[in-house]
Amino acid sequence: MDNFTKARHTMVNKQLKQRGIVDPLVLEAMGSVPRHSFVSMEYQELAYKDSPLPIGYGQTISQPYIVAFMLQELRLKTPRKAIVLEIGSGLGYQAAVLSQFVKHVYTVERIPELAAQAEQNLLALSYSNITVCRGDGGYGWPKYAPYDAIVVAAAAPEIPPPLLSQLKADAALVIPVGEAGNQQLIRAVAKGRKFHTEVLAPVAFVPLIGEHGWPESKDEG
Ligand code: SAH
Repeated sequence: MDNFTKARHTMVNKQLKQRGIVDPLVLEAMGSVPRHSFVSMEYQELAYKDSPLPIGYGQTISQPYIVAFMLQELRLKTPRKAIVLEIGSGLGYQAAVLSQFVKHVYTVERIPELAAQAEQNLLALSYSNITVCRGDGGYGWPKYAPYDAIVVAAAAPEIPPPLLSQLKADAALVIPVGEAGNQQLIRAVAKGRKFHTEVLAPVAFVPLIGEHGWPESKDEG
């Protein structure tokens, strides 16, 4: 076993399990995806530490625990059949983890260089059930909607209505909401034309940057 693999197993056992990650699919995926392959050479040694890391353009790859927590809290009912939308691909790490136990991941990234690099990373590692799109994720990705879950990796001032309208019935949207220093991770579950929202945890994410403000959605609950 090489050092990266050892460090990854320690990450799963010491950080994730001890902090309450119990979903076996999430734990297995976190144990298999090489996080070090998603960061630049200078950060590879730090890839399995309990912290976010810079990925350029003022953005970060999320802390492993947070990635695992968000994916666990999607509460997928039939994960292997699930079509999931991610907003904020970064370099593709979370999409890769998710892709291990769902049918397909669609992921949207607003910074063209990061979207291109995410695509390259995923191709290099032969993850084939992920599609990356350059765009403003505040609009979701209507083409493949509705989704079995949506996960957002950047904090929005409020829940963007188009994301709610792209959820299947009983599907969950997990999204950080709020200003820097006062963000909460929220889960919104589609129930008919209404949404049940629940606060999961205080968090700290980079901001979701709306390129055109938030469009209105007629399906808003
Ligand atoms: N999923 C990544 C986290 C990336 S950080 C991981 O695996 O670690 C959040 C990302 O959201 C950044 O790359 C940022 O550029 C992107 N982002 C911010 N606003 C966005 C928007 N409106 N649409 C799509 N991506 C956005």
